Amino acid sequence: MITIKDVFEDYKQLNNIYDSTEMEALTLLVISEISKLSKASIKAFPERELSTEQSEVLKTILTRLQTGEPVQYILGETEFYGLPFKVSPSVLIPRPETEELVEWILSVCGGHFAQNSDQFEGAILDIGTGSGCIAISLKKNLPNANVSAVDISEPALQTAKDNAVLNQVEVHFVHSDILDWRAQDSKFNMYNLIVSNPPYVTPHDKQQMHTNVTDHEPHSALFVPENDPLLFYNAIADFALLKLPTKGLLFFEINENYGNQTVEMLQKKGFTDIVLKQDMSGRDRMIKAATI
Ligand code: GLN
Repeated sequence: MITIKDVFEDYKQLNNIYDSTEMEALTLLVISEISKLSKASIKAFPERELSTEQSEVLKTILTRLQTGEPVQYILGETEFYGLPFKVSPSVLIPRPETEELVEWILSVCGGHFAQNSDQFEGAILDIGTGSGCIAISLKKNLPNANVSAVDISEPALQTAKDNAVLNQVEVHFVHSDILDWRAQDSKFNMYNLIVSNPPYVTPHDKQQMHTNVTDHEPHSALFVPENDPLLFYNAIADFALLKLPTKGLLFFEINENYGNQTVEMLQKKGFTDIVLKQDMSGRDRMIKAATI
């Protein structure tokens, strides 16, 4: 029989991949998922014994974690904005920075379009939805909004659809390549708010990325060519100029190295009220812009 304490000891083998805080959080998460015990009780009762079956599963998970596979893919799920999301290697794992983007949208939406968020009845489009985390968390918090989400990847759309069912919200999913939107115009309507967290990592940034990310997460969701880091932002801004009415809002998650360039591009195209916002690490991470 092994105890909770033994598992913490065993998982210290991950110290070549994770620092001690990450490792502790990861071990706690995995034990809690497998044993169905709360994190508080795991911490409070380290001598508690686990079943043979549970200890076997924990060993298998440790082996996978040692290869650098993200825990979210191993467990097949994660949490975003307090909601559960299924994830698979066909979708990017939702990031905390993106939760900040959702929070910003929700705080702006209330005041900009309606007295409070419950009264917002406008149309929202999330471009490059992946797991559906932005679209679904917006719909959950803006119950009267009409939310659509588009992605180029069929498997990603399938995951996003499963996540809409899991979270009991209605989102209209569209399969399309946004870079080719002019040829696929019939798939889109008019929207009051467009949001996107498109691929924005350049081959240059890749060198600083953890192999947990680069070896396991979908490259089509992460990377853009070095010579055109604003590829998606340009296309989406043009799309938004036609698909947003007056006083429509466009929100982006951005590459921290291209904040000012993205703002300039939006200014040139005629957007107004442009705000560049930092994430909790103080990095340029989000932009809001309005149509005139
Ligand atoms: N923020 C993600 C990362 O650094 C990238 C997200 C994206 O390309 N849209 O891993």
